[in-house]
Amino acid sequence: MRSRFSAFCRRDSEYLIATHKHLQVPSAEELQQVFEHTQWLGLEIVSSAQDSDSTGWVEFKAWFKDSDSGKVDAIWEVSQFVRHNQQWYYTQGQQRKVNLPSRNEPCVCFSGKKFKKCCGA
Ligand SMILES: [Zn+2]
Repeated sequence: MRSRFSAFCRRDSEYLIATHKHLQVPSAEELQQVFEHTQWLGLEIVSSAQDSDSTGWVEFKAWFKDSDSGKVDAIWEVSQFVRHNQQWYYTQGQQRKVNLPSRNEPCVCFSGKKFKKCCGA
């Protein structure tokens, strides 16, 4: 999960496609669209568990700023992973609706500053 988030940050569509095992694997072009409009702020792992030798899930919030609107938002998702030959693959995710922190709460990027003085400014 963390390695996939890093890959999103460094815009590595090859890695993202290679670690995605499902019917609807995004194309490099679709990922490029996402990259161009997204500035990643921080990754918050809410919880995770391994259900068996070869399956597990991660609940996370990936905070980002939309480059066009300048708005802060997050993907809050429970992602399912399967292991195949020592490598974990993302299969699918269930997304939830996320609430922004209030202005005086700590910033989503872990800067230690208040949200209103940092990414929420
Ligand atoms: Zn911030």
